[in-house]
Amino acid sequence: MDFAYSPKVQQLRERVTAFMQAHVYPAEAEFERQVGEGDRWQPTAIMEQLKDKAKGEGLWNLFLPDSELGAGLTNTEYAPLAEIMGSSLIGPEPFNCAAPDTGNMEVLVRYGSQAHKREWLEPLLSGEIRSAFAMTEPEVASSDATNMQATAVRDGEHWVINGRKWWTSGACDPRCKIMIFMGLTNPEGPRHQQHSMILVPMDTPGVKVLRPLPVFGYDDAPHGHAEVLFDDVRVPYENVLLGEGRGFEIAQGRLGPGRIHHCMRSIGMAERALKLMCERALGRTAFGKPLARLGGNIDLIAESRMEINMARLLTLNAAYMMDTVGNKVAASEIAQIKVVAPNVALKVIDRAIQMHGGAGVSGDFPLAYWYAMQRTLRLADGPDEVHRAAIGKYELGKYMAKA
Ligand SMILES: Cc1cc2nc3c(=O)[nH]c(=O)nc-3n(C[C@H](O)[C@H](O)[C@H](O)COP(=O)(O)OP(=O)(O)OC[C@H]3O[C@@H](n4cnc5c(N)ncnc54)[C@H](O)[C@@H]3O)c2cc1C
Repeated sequence: MDFAYSPKVQQLRERVTAFMQAHVYPAEAEFERQVGEGDRWQPTAIMEQLKDKAKGEGLWNLFLPDSELGAGLTNTEYAPLAEIMGSSLIGPEPFNCAAPDTGNMEVLVRYGSQAHKREWLEPLLSGEIRSAFAMTEPEVASSDATNMQATAVRDGEHWVINGRKWWTSGACDPRCKIMIFMGLTNPEGPRHQQHSMILVPMDTPGVKVLRPLPVFGYDDAPHGHAEVLFDDVRVPYENVLLGEGRGFEIAQGRLGPGRIHHCMRSIGMAERALKLMCERALGRTAFGKPLARLGGNIDLIAESRMEINMARLLTLNAAYMMDTVGNKVAASEIAQIKVVAPNVALKVIDRAIQMHGGAGVSGDFPLAYWYAMQRTLRLADGPDEVHRAAIGKYELGKYMAKA
């Protein structure tokens, strides 16, 4: 594969970097301040201003490969841009490139009807509303999605939905207007054809956001990760995406790009943590020397550089495979990077925390919050072990026929 950035990507990298430096990094403290004043679960004025600015500059919906609706970039082209946005926790949203909306918009582009697109995709693309993906359930091991037991039962021209979901990211935000619900519709069908994805507007009677779940004590407001109760929720039958029993088919399509976007952002965060680590190592003195010259600190910096570079190349390789042979054939590469990227980011952030001493775990630096968020990515979109199992199975599969 060719690792060089095309002139188009290079130009976009420069523009996204300039936007981050001029507007996003300087807004981080103000965003925190606005979330902290009054009701934490209200959108902030600063984020809406950032969105207007990025949209005005044409830096909008860069994730979407469809050139009529987005920037028309391949996964390989989008990867370096997502990395830059991911260097700030508030980085992706100004460009309308934040999870879980990106994955949900891709689902609507690929599997939504014309009516779904008009009602939900258009306002998502314009950044007027946000969305959530409701699959995981507290009562069952959700790393095995065939376990999902919340039900959607057909009643004439409607679905009646009952069950409890949690970790429904984004559902606490009042801008979140639509959920993609995954539930049991065809319990008698083959194992991977029992579940369906159904669009559920947040304001449907019976939808109750019970509580935001904190992550190591961080509430991630105003986005949040919600526990949601579905109590006799009725939605039109045509809200089903693609068709009954086809939820897994959609999940395959959704999780490929969604997973790799997370990985790209993780690398951006690791890169910024390394920058903070180097600045601290050079700027602070102990025992008569800069921290960089003490003990094995320079090795930790070198190790971080090597690991980030390896993770970046592995991500680009997975993106390239997705572009050239498709998500299904690239499944092992996607799984590999899903394990590697957050683990590398965690190691680098952990070293940066250590180099900062007590400041590293305080709220004065972003490292502690970054660590908490990256740690969740070893679980979200499937825990490491599930991806390792898939990679191992694929490797063994090459030899099983011969054995
Ligand atoms: C911050 C955050 C945001 C999230 N956002 C969303 C969201 O928006 N929508 C949504 O639907 N879900 C979301 N999730 C949920 C996430 O996808 C699940 O937590 C994850 O899939 C694991 O499911 P579980 O929690 O039920 O763990 P379980 O399935 O109970 O697994 C627990 C542990 O068992 C072990 N295990 C499982 N399978 C294997 C295996 N094959 N081999 C070896 N060990 C194994 C692993 O150590 C695993 O961590 C989010 C989670 C977090 C933390």
